[in-house]
Order: sequence, then C-alpha cells, then structure tokens
Amino acid sequence: MVRYLIFLNLQIVGPKGRFSNGKSGFNSFKKSRIRMRDNKFHQMIKTVNKLLINKFGIPKKNKKDPDPVDMMIATILSQNTNDNNSYKAYKNLRSRYKTWEEILKARVTSIEKEIRIAGLGKQKSNAIKNFLVDLKKKTGSLNLNHITKMEENEAISELINYKGVGVKTASCVLLFSMGRNVCPVDTHVHRTVNRIGIVNEKSPDKTFFALNKNFPQMIAHSFHTNLIRLGREICKPKKPSCGICPLEKLCQFDGKNFENSELKKENSFMLLDNV
Ligand code: SF4
Repeated sequence: MVRYLIFLNLQIVGPKGRFSNGKSGFNSFKKSRIRMRDNKFHQMIKTVNKLLINKFGIPKKNKKDPDPVDMMIATILSQNTNDNNSYKAYKNLRSRYKTWEEILKARVTSIEKEIRIAGLGKQKSNAIKNFLVDLKKKTGSLNLNHITKMEENEAISELINYKGVGVKTASCVLLFSMGRNVCPVDTHVHRTVNRIGIVNEKSPDKTFFALNKNFPQMIAHSFHTNLIRLGREICKPKKPSCGICPLEKLCQFDGKNFENSELKKENSFMLLDNV
C-alpha cells in the first residue's frame, strides 16, 4: 500500500531555490541530472500530446463533471468490453434504477440482468453492489464528497480500498469526474507509451505510477483520450501501422511495421466522456 501513497506529484526536483541547500556539489550535480531527465520527460509528453491533437483534434469532454459515484459505476462497467456495450449497460441500469439507493437494496442477480451486455455480469454486479454497500457503511451516504477534497495520491489510495476497484478505475474517477490532471493507464495507453519510449514498464499499474509521478499540467485528458484512439486505430497490438503514425519520427519502438498503411477508423465513442 505504501507505494500507492508516494507516486503522484513526487517532486524529486522541488521549487525554485531547491539547489541552494548547502549540501555537496555532487548532490547538486545529481539533482541537475534528474531535472534534465524530468524536463526531457515533460517535453516528450507535451510533444506527443501536440502531435496527437494535430492528428485527432482536441477530444470532446462531458459538458459538466459527472457525479464521481456515477463515474465509478460507469468505469466498473467499462472493464474488459467496448464503450458502446458498457454505455448500453449503464443506460439500462439508470433506467431500471432511478437512484443508487435503489441499487443498494436490489439483489445482485437483478443488477446483473441489467448489465449483462457489458460482459462479466456477475463480477461487475458484485463490484457495484460492494462499492455502494461499503460507501454507505463508511460515509453514511452515497456520494464521494470526502474524496473531492483529497490530494490525488490520497484519493487513489482511498478508492482502491473498495473491493473490485483498481488503480485504473480510481484514476478514471479522478480525471473524468473531478477534472484532476491524472492520466489513467489502460491497455492502449500502456502499450503506446512504452512503445514510444516515454516509460519502460511491464504492467499498466507500473506504467501509471511512472507516467504520473510528474505529469505536465492541464493535458491529461487530451493525452489519455487521444492515446486510446491511437492505440485503437494505428498503434494496434499486432502489426501497428507505423507508416501513417503521427509519432513515427520520435517513437523508439524496435518492432515498427511499415507493411500496412491503412487507417482503420474505429468508433471513437468514449463512454467516460458521455456519462
Ligand atoms: S510509430 Fe508505430 S509503434 Fe510507434 S507509436 Fe506509432 S504506430 Fe506505434
């Protein structure tokens, strides 16, 4: 659990005046190397963001921030399925149950029936029910107001304590319903940022911590959303279409593929921007 508490906003390099602490020249040298590395990291993310906006535009967002509990449930539904099916499941749930209080009283099997189209019905209905029961027990209500006042690292640590809620789901709640500058890492973001060479990590959660420890301000939503689009349409798991990729010149991936150069336009509907 400790690692979850130290990842975000970890300022290895502090504010102005940080090097005049009277310690050895070696420490200053080491810190300046870290600063150079961080500048490079920042610059690369900003450049990728700019190139992706040139290619795909600025992604649309929800007109206003949705309720964090709505977002939590939508994100649970979105796991391991496409956005169209999870959107239908979310709509089914909302039209069958007008409030989350009603779901709290519903049988798990009834919830499962409404969300079947999103797959993993048993697992997801249990996760939704457990989350609501635990939230009620803990806060006496069905809102996440107590999270909205927390720092990012604290909020994520808190949210992943709910059974069935992982780092990706927690970070989606922060980005999509609280407007926090946190970049969630799903399978597409994990694959693309590692191929490009922004990070070098083996799992989505490790990628998340590496990417977010010092993420450039204001761009998490466009960076995250456009990388998903890149991963769906161009940088596919097998045979990426590197010949038409806007990032080809800066990407460090050894297995680039220039055979297929067709853009396969996928449905760019994003559930979490339509809650
Ligand atoms: S150049 Fe190829 S591997 Fe690199 S990001 Fe683009 S599609 Fe992916």
